[in-house]
Amino acid sequence: MNLSVFYSEKQHVSDPQPGSPSPGKPDKVMASWRERGFPIKIHPPQAATVEDLCLAHDADYVRGVLDCSRANGFGTRSAAVAASLPWTVGSMASAALHALQSGTGKSAVAVSPTSGFHHAGYAFGGGFCTFNGLIVAARKALQAGAGRVGILDLDQHYGNGTADILAKLELENVVQWTLGHSAVSRGAAAVRWLENLPELISGEFEGCGLLLYHAGADCHIDDPLGGRFTSEQMRQRDRVVFQTCKALGLPVAWNLAGGYQEPIRKVLALHDQTAEECLRVYGGEGK
Ligand SMILES: [Zn+2]
Repeated sequence: MNLSVFYSEKQHVSDPQPGSPSPGKPDKVMASWRERGFPIKIHPPQAATVEDLCLAHDADYVRGVLDCSRANGFGTRSAAVAASLPWTVGSMASAALHALQSGTGKSAVAVSPTSGFHHAGYAFGGGFCTFNGLIVAARKALQAGAGRVGILDLDQHYGNGTADILAKLELENVVQWTLGHSAVSRGAAAVRWLENLPELISGEFEGCGLLLYHAGADCHIDDPLGGRFTSEQMRQRDRVVFQTCKALGLPVAWNLAGGYQEPIRKVLALHDQTAEECLRVYGGEGK
């Protein structure tokens, strides 16, 4: 199997933004996966339109960010960030639709090499997130007949923006579960949490036609903003998510989310692991 990746250079921002390496991550992740010879197939994403962005956000907020009259989630008015946003959100939505339309078979998985979604609320950005690509992707999937969509947010931090939009727009068809909202800690507690992860997925997302997996790298024990799982436990986390979804016949679209270790190679290594486990579970040659 070739893993379907929805990627365009337009997702990438070269200008450094305060506090987070995420806008510059898509190109680095793609280079790493190519270098490692992962069997991937790159698909051009469809850019999100203003109408698409308004599936998750207030129209004035959307227009203000895009014309740089309002600050983005980094607190800047960068034209380069504004230009990238329809592509980062579009990549997530394109991956979601691809996974959904691939049905329940072995190939029902797709990737968006993007970050910066879950702290973006209905009319605000923050925490390095400007627009909520998870909600836009979920709503596009619902429009395409998903029935119900789940968001498994295993970033270190709580997806407050996602929660805000779900409440504001009364999206009872979209279910969110976040690691950042739970009390799991290190050591034995982390081991137990990983053992219970299959039941959590099958219980929380029963009846969903699609799962969006927000595979944050900042819950690594060495992350300056994180700190629960070892590298091997993070690999186990990813393996369990993919194995459980495959067993349930639940299509998955996943993305990168946070990761703040330096040098960035340490963060890329964790994203590499997620891709490796995905390829292993869905029948590729990754190891
Ligand atoms: Zn985070």
